[in-house]
Amino acid sequence: MAKKVLKFGGTSVGTIDRILHVANIIKKEHEANNEIIAVVSAMSGKTNDLIQQSKKISDNFNKRELDVLLSSGEQVTCALLAGALTELGLKCKSWLNWQIPILTEGENLNARIINMSILKINEFLSQKGIVIIPGFQGISRDGDVTTIGRGGSDATAVAIAKIFNSDTCEIYTDVDGVYSTDPNKIPVAKKIEKISYDEMLELSSLGAKVMQPSAVQTAMMYNIPLEVKSTFTNRKGTKIFNQDNNIDYTKSVTGVAYSKDDAKITILSVADKPGVAANIFEPLSKNQINVDMVIQNISSDLRTTDITFTIKRDDVAKTINILENNRNIKYDDINYNDKVSKVSIVGAGMVSTPGVTYKMFRSLADENINILAISTSEIKLSVIINEDDTLKAVKKLHTIFELD
Ligand code: ASP
Ligand code: MG
Repeated sequence: MAKKVLKFGGTSVGTIDRILHVANIIKKEHEANNEIIAVVSAMSGKTNDLIQQSKKISDNFNKRELDVLLSSGEQVTCALLAGALTELGLKCKSWLNWQIPILTEGENLNARIINMSILKINEFLSQKGIVIIPGFQGISRDGDVTTIGRGGSDATAVAIAKIFNSDTCEIYTDVDGVYSTDPNKIPVAKKIEKISYDEMLELSSLGAKVMQPSAVQTAMMYNIPLEVKSTFTNRKGTKIFNQDNNIDYTKSVTGVAYSKDDAKITILSVADKPGVAANIFEPLSKNQINVDMVIQNISSDLRTTDITFTIKRDDVAKTINILENNRNIKYDDINYNDKVSKVSIVGAGMVSTPGVTYKMFRSLADENINILAISTSEIKLSVIINEDDTLKAVKKLHTIFELD
């Protein structure tokens, strides 16, 4: 007997038929004598619809009320799934965020789960009851409903796995695992059987959409093994765990990720003296703008230089506005390009393989792709390129690093 947390994403519960199918998956797991806590997302598209509705009232919709609104999507799925399991003759109950309660800290729309009460639920599990919990939400100390950021059901599942000390945490989704790159765009992509937390964290942060990065990070912190698998096939999924679990590092690169929501900003001719970068970036960070790569050119006249950095495309207008209103910096001009993408290679094997950097740059050059910015870490190498070149670059890198 194992205690299992099973998380079902939006497409897995996207229609009534699919909810019935999920109920059957849970039934099988339950009949195999496992204790089951199922964590569910809202039906696919639901959260977006709810956001759209709020925008019809105001672009600045009250955040407390927005959380009340957005959390409703998961509550609907909880009830439908619990109802479906009851219909199958199983003992089952849904628990809403405030009924458990799932305690969170931090501001509305961006709260974090800090604890939850386990007694009642454990008792129900021990009586062979199946527990259904809504992902993506909790309540604050003041008793207000909160949500924990888009894609947050993954984080809920991992938090529950930790707090309930479950044996496994299985992420059921619409793909059958983590691939070496996006299999919808690059058909030669291969499924990865086992991957380390670090690599998964990089891949998901760099654009692979299988799992929410902060959930992977929590799993890594507490060493909670994860498995990503498909709701719709019986194929083996991808296991995510510690590096020492016999992962094959003979290949230097494990995966190629890309994102198309980046933008590049260049500030021309800023003074080349101490404090300038701090003056530029401090107000950006105060306004929650996430700066990714930064490049400062060497100044040719020893007095001024150009600074280029990348941000999310959605933040371009806000960023330029902040720069233009920043009285602490002087410059000639500001340029931006929001038709760029970020392509990254990730692999724990890179640490021990020389020449990966050169190989990446050479193969992009062979395809006549211009590199606009570069950033590296121990296990990843990212470049910013023109958006139109994205797939060409991904394909080439996937081949060159023997992932096809
Ligand atoms: N329904 C939420 C969202 O779409 C949470 C989730 O699906 O993980 O962001
Ligand atoms: Mg999701």
